[in-house]
Amino acid sequence: MERIKIAYAIDKETGQPVHISKADKSKKYLCIECKEELRPAQGKERAHHFKHKKNSQCNTSPETELHKLAKIIIEQNNEILLYEKVKFNYNKCDIEKQIRDIRPDVIIENNEGEKWIIEICVTHAIDEEKKKKIQEMQLNCIEIALDKDLYGKALNVIKNEVLQNPNNRTKIYPEDSPFPHNVEFNTKTGFNHKEKKSLFNFKTKYIICTLAAIGIGFFLHDLFVRKQWRKKWKKNFKKRYIK
Ligand SMILES: [Zn+2]
Repeated sequence: MERIKIAYAIDKETGQPVHISKADKSKKYLCIECKEELRPAQGKERAHHFKHKKNSQCNTSPETELHKLAKIIIEQNNEILLYEKVKFNYNKCDIEKQIRDIRPDVIIENNEGEKWIIEICVTHAIDEEKKKKIQEMQLNCIEIALDKDLYGKALNVIKNEVLQNPNNRTKIYPEDSPFPHNVEFNTKTGFNHKEKKSLFNFKTKYIICTLAAIGIGFFLHDLFVRKQWRKKWKKNFKKRYIK
């Protein structure tokens, strides 16, 4: 069986993924899957690819490579399109970090502690059990489906699919709009919806303001009426008792 050609490797120096077309023989490259050293094979006869050393046991596949590459791309960036016109900026990224009994592909988090799970699907979609668990825990999650045709494509093409293309995303949780941007994550209790809290705050503020307005109204009314009443009373008093 012919060894599967590898299109991407990690530049040992920079940690960046490099496409074979940009590989430089003087540099050192590592396999995305096994982290062993790879060498660029850029001969004239066969399509260019990265090669493991002869005795390597690595059995990486194009699917594995694309899957891992997508995770690396998310890890090395700080902005991703979640849904159409909805971008999410993050400054923390965990790859395959356990949450209870699931291990999401990627968890990204912003300054405010809002988290999103990104599941990458190359050959098969997120399994139903995992999906159900994510929904039960109310973990914000989208799935990005990457087409097999992407294998071996240029880095900017794959980057665009991973970070920007609104059409390859599926909402796992929440499944429906409105898009809850204001959710808080807790690894023990799942996501807490700030929306409810803020709605409560809004209600409270509304009630307080209304009561304050009514109070001020009464006060002014009272002040005005009393002033008039006092004037009248003074007049009558003078009429009756003085002179
Ligand atoms: Zn390998």
